[in-house]
Amino acid sequence: MVVDYIRRILIVSLLALCVSLLFWSGSAAHAEQSRISTWVFPADGYITDHYGTRGGDHKGVDIGGEHGSPVYSVDEGVVSKSYYSSSYGHVVFVKHPNGYETVYGHLHERAVSEGQAVVKGEKIGKMGNTGRSTGTHLHFEVHNGEWTEHKDHAIDPYLVFGEGETGQMVFAKEHDPYQVREVALKVTKPENLQSLSAAKGKESSDGNVLHRVAKGETLWGISQVYGVSTSQLMKQNGLGDSAIISGQQLVIPSGEKSVHLVKSGETLFGIARLYNVSVDDLLVWNEVKKDDPIIPAQELIVNKD
Ligand SMILES: [Zn+2]
Repeated sequence: MVVDYIRRILIVSLLALCVSLLFWSGSAAHAEQSRISTWVFPADGYITDHYGTRGGDHKGVDIGGEHGSPVYSVDEGVVSKSYYSSSYGHVVFVKHPNGYETVYGHLHERAVSEGQAVVKGEKIGKMGNTGRSTGTHLHFEVHNGEWTEHKDHAIDPYLVFGEGETGQMVFAKEHDPYQVREVALKVTKPENLQSLSAAKGKESSDGNVLHRVAKGETLWGISQVYGVSTSQLMKQNGLGDSAIISGQQLVIPSGEKSVHLVKSGETLFGIARLYNVSVDDLLVWNEVKKDDPIIPAQELIVNKD
């Protein structure tokens, strides 16, 4: 009788243990999976190539951007490799706690070494054109598991960040890197438009335009609005890096035409609103007709003094 009772208790507690183990591993797996949903994008720029192209040999996404611009780790982890390879060029591998491994290739410079722990969004190098590469870009790979020579575990980075298309502008340190519309909205908010047009009308004594940084703006976003490079902005303002704060006043280098690079899905009307100019002005400045199509990566003059 007593033995039977003890046996029953044992069975019940064993069952309870099994059930709790099930739940525990289930939630752990869920937590690991959901970690990917908080990864941040590694670089600013434009998508120039996708996963699975070149006969399936291209196992990553290419982001073309400014030479020397920062490249960030998508999540915390440990640098598993940091070296120069004849194909990847200067390359950094990061192993993440969820078992994924990410690869950042063709770097101009590596900022981390093997065994080093990195946090999410930490700068691990600079965008470059080293190794088997034509033109400045980041080659970025995601592996669901370890990187292998044949890249058996490579997955499409769009599974993590959402679908992108060639020529599309992408933003670093954002989980959703395709924030074209949000950026446009930010700039077209009345208060930002005011500050933008005020800035455009306001010239400092040496003829440079002043821009007051609005909340959420990045140096790269501002460089795109004025058609200048981030390095010109940094040099002009004596900045050591691309960090800026809301309310800060920036001097925009002059002598540059304001040029807008058309992004996928944009319209002349939207671009005119973005820069607070009229559609007719855009038509005249760019010698285009109202019904002419505008295409991604086309350059439009958006400001003429
Ligand atoms: Zn590539």
